[in-house]
Amino acid sequence: MTLAIDGADLAAIRAAAVAAYPHECCGLLMGRHEAGAWMVEEVIACANVAIEPARRFEVDPKALIAAHRAARETGRELIGPYHSHPNGHDRPSDHDRAWAAEAGVDGEVWLIVPVTQAGSGAPQAYLFEAGDFRALAIAARA
Ligand SMILES: [Zn+2]
Repeated sequence: MTLAIDGADLAAIRAAAVAAYPHECCGLLMGRHEAGAWMVEEVIACANVAIEPARRFEVDPKALIAAHRAARETGRELIGPYHSHPNGHDRPSDHDRAWAAEAGVDGEVWLIVPVTQAGSGAPQAYLFEAGDFRALAIAARA
């Protein structure tokens, strides 16, 4: 299973992680998926409206509503959110896991960007399914 994403989109997400540091950045991945392959066609940067933005992310609800509307109008789907981890970890946190389970986001793909004062690391993708995240390969999209 793979998440295919443009190198330019990955670079933009990494730049957003650096710009937001020491807070978490966040946004939405829009595109399509079929048979275990997700294709990102658009990346939407969103405001992080979490009360503790250095440790949590919460996509601005207005942006989420707009993304759902755009998905209906364009035939795209909301693949899932991306966010950064300013502690430099590239795996879902316990909080991410608990939040995803509570919100019931089965089928969403999350992209996590590790970032520290020294810069951003390689983003990692995870599919949330049956109560847990499992790693997806990332493929460059032509
Ligand atoms: Zn997280």
